[in-house]
Amino acid sequence: MKFCVLGSGSKGNATYLESGKTRILIDAGMSGKELQRRLAVIGVDISAIDAIIVTHEHNDHIHGVGVLSRRAGIPVFANPATFSAASPKVHRLSAYNEFETGVAFQFQGLEIHPFAISHDSADPVGFRISDGSVSLGFCTDTGRVSQLIRHRLATCQALLLESNHDIELLQNGPYPPYLKQRIRSSQGHLDNVAAAAFLKELLHEGLQHVVLAHLSEENNRPEIAYRHAVAALNSNPLDKKKGVRISVACQESIGEFIHLSV
Ligand SMILES: [Zn+2]
Ligand SMILES: [Zn+2]
Repeated sequence: MKFCVLGSGSKGNATYLESGKTRILIDAGMSGKELQRRLAVIGVDISAIDAIIVTHEHNDHIHGVGVLSRRAGIPVFANPATFSAASPKVHRLSAYNEFETGVAFQFQGLEIHPFAISHDSADPVGFRISDGSVSLGFCTDTGRVSQLIRHRLATCQALLLESNHDIELLQNGPYPPYLKQRIRSSQGHLDNVAAAAFLKELLHEGLQHVVLAHLSEENNRPEIAYRHAVAALNSNPLDKKKGVRISVACQESIGEFIHLSV
């Protein structure tokens, strides 16, 4: 399995994942044109995408879903509440498949397990995606961490975790009070300290790579999020953190390809 964050942040989120002959996008929150451009940069034609799986209906996750689906005949997977909340924005889809939150489904050699997260949208989910050998745990846009999320993300070889904001930067920043409140709420976004503490809990010997994602451009800095995550790993015994790499996804540029070894 390998994956690549095409872009991450409040202006648009999309991640490309490939295993065997299967190629999917997790969210498609930039314009169709921009997503096609970014896919071309990593050598992937839009016609090669087998499915788009959607976490929730916020525009930074679905902006390009309708266009890509219609343009390349790509089926879209989401839960019913997300489909109905997203439909005014995505319009007609080439094909769509409903999944049920909490129920794993199979797709072309992948097992995709959507699980509930805590966010101000209709029925937001994270995913655990396995190909039988390795798993990616994918969790952004959650205001808090639950036992269920912990359970689903445990033992994954790779994690893509939200590290949205720095509390001080948010508090002292330009956002109006209602928006600060929304971001900090249990249905908002995880801050760097909470994300690092969660990462510390999730650390295990099989973990290979952690991507910190959905960083706020206004209320965070990549180096601050990174520093918190590294400190969390360093507070663990050596054998557990051995070999774990951390990278920070950003909005403007495409991330590196992350290859997971069996
Ligand atoms: Zn959201
Ligand atoms: Zn988002």
